[in-house]
Amino acid sequence: MSDAYGQLLDATIQHLEDLKSRGVRNIAVSPETLRALSQPAKSQIPNLKSETSRTPVSLPAAKPIVQPAIGNRQSAMSAPTAEQKSLLALPGETIAASSPLDPQAKAAAFASLRERALACVKCPHLASSRKNVVFGVGVIDAQLMFVGEAPGADEDEQGEPFVGKAGQLLTKIIQATGLQRSDVYIANILKCRPNTPGQSAGNRKPTPDEMATCIPYLHEQIDLIRPKVIVALGATAVEGLLGKTIGITKLRGTWKTYRGTPLMPTYHPAYLLRNQAMSEKRKVWEDMLAVMEKLGMSVSQKQRNYFLKA
Ligand code: URA
Repeated sequence: MSDAYGQLLDATIQHLEDLKSRGVRNIAVSPETLRALSQPAKSQIPNLKSETSRTPVSLPAAKPIVQPAIGNRQSAMSAPTAEQKSLLALPGETIAASSPLDPQAKAAAFASLRERALACVKCPHLASSRKNVVFGVGVIDAQLMFVGEAPGADEDEQGEPFVGKAGQLLTKIIQATGLQRSDVYIANILKCRPNTPGQSAGNRKPTPDEMATCIPYLHEQIDLIRPKVIVALGATAVEGLLGKTIGITKLRGTWKTYRGTPLMPTYHPAYLLRNQAMSEKRKVWEDMLAVMEKLGMSVSQKQRNYFLKA
């Protein structure tokens, strides 16, 4: 195997792994490449020249491999050159440009994503028990995005995330930063309420299967919105976005990165409703102060002192 081929193979494997980590499960492959792949090993070396004649097709909501530094968001990797990008592009794929999406195209892509989610029946047990698909709410250009676990009964009833008691507390937290609910985007890992057969009340945590089935919708939402900061509310949100199952107590307050975007894990507002201690409120507030600073928002002395014991 030549060095050049070895490098290309490594780069391809790396790129496929990157796509997979971003939730992409299928890629389009040109007929020529398919034919080449089915040849004996000796002739599997891709003919780069012939690849240039393929018709480029964008992967669904493919995020640029590298985000440019936007505001205070820094790229986690070094930017590949245009030549490297074209080498890394898979047959049938165009690596999405990192420039902002055209607003009309973005709105159309978001509307189409919403349509797909509203019609989703991938989890038949949830599709049959739900009243509404709870897609998400807010501005699609939001710099700040909150991600929760899954709709509860109120959200299922109204088709909007975080409208129940925990949601009202989340709204207060958002307002305490000086923002309005309508300035941010709010979504969940699961778009349908986890069913609770035989129970008249209560919620249950989404199963790993349900999360894996639904998460591509959230990935696409994030890819389109491109928030500057994501706040993951509770352990399930962190698990869904980062695959981490470490306790939220350990994770909260420490910056993580979701595909290049800073992510702050914090407690779910439902936890604050169960545990009314000032110290716990202060922890969430400290996480929000860090978020405000990351977004370049000004923080008043009064805000800095919220939930500190007198
Ligand atoms: N809890 C969540 O995680 N999401 C909601 O939408 C409501 C409550």
